[in-house]
Amino acid sequence: MSVRFRIGIDLGGTKIEGAAIDACGRVRVRHRIATPTHNYDGTIAAIIGVIRKIEQEIGALAPVGIGIPGTLSPATGLVKNANSTWLIGRPLQHDVETALGRPVRFANDANCFALSEATDGAGAGKNTVFGVILGTGVGGGIAVRRQIIVGGNAISGEWGHNPLPWPLPNEVPGPKCWCGRSGCLETFLSGPALAADHRFHTAQTLSPPAIVEAAAAGDPPAHATLSRYADRLARGLASVINLLDPDAIVLGGGMSSIPALYERVPRLWPRYVFSDRVATPLLPPVHGDSSGVRGAAWLWPPEQEP
Ligand SMILES: [Zn+2]
Repeated sequence: MSVRFRIGIDLGGTKIEGAAIDACGRVRVRHRIATPTHNYDGTIAAIIGVIRKIEQEIGALAPVGIGIPGTLSPATGLVKNANSTWLIGRPLQHDVETALGRPVRFANDANCFALSEATDGAGAGKNTVFGVILGTGVGGGIAVRRQIIVGGNAISGEWGHNPLPWPLPNEVPGPKCWCGRSGCLETFLSGPALAADHRFHTAQTLSPPAIVEAAAAGDPPAHATLSRYADRLARGLASVINLLDPDAIVLGGGMSSIPALYERVPRLWPRYVFSDRVATPLLPPVHGDSSGVRGAAWLWPPEQEP
């Protein structure tokens, strides 16, 4: 196998993206196809097809890592917690390895994001990095010395289904969450949650980018919506800092492109963190959408040549 390249696959609900990165972390080959939704065998075949195509172009076999929605149960090896429901309960790792004829590493997609940013992104050189996904859903991953912390239940970093801390009277019990509980951080901090909060307070239906634009143009209700969002994010992350005290927090997902968060949230979180001063940097991602494939490829770490 070539040690010059690593292949990362980002298995998403709508697309499968694959890339080969070289030893310096440069993306050299990239392929993207639609995910055969609700078709398990088709999904396996599509993953293998992307790997073979990339290996043909780099002219060698390379170690493969795959980021998946959900995670592999440590108890059974089967997929759990995936919003791509046709994967749930399936022996995905076994089936991909059998089809490919060699070992493949798997990780949750939020963990891949954290690993990507910790390896050669915004958190490079930091010991402990908390990677946060603020998108359609809210998730997170923890990387310590460029290794993912998986956990005994394989749910490390899944802060999105913790409740919003220090809730105001009008924030309890909070919106109903798809997980069956109410008031989860995801119901306040996802993109759809931001739009729903704005609609609730103004009766106006705006997308998250439109709310950000309106706030920047001086619209007071949009500004108030973003202020509520920033304070809720500060509270959610303060509870992470109290528990993990990471050396850096990196935001990812669609909401990570709101510039104001990086300035406002660190101004708000000292009132919630149990410390006289808070030095934690809150950073935008370096690799953006590429973090899925990059983190999957870095499941074969630089210091551990296959
Ligand atoms: Zn929930």
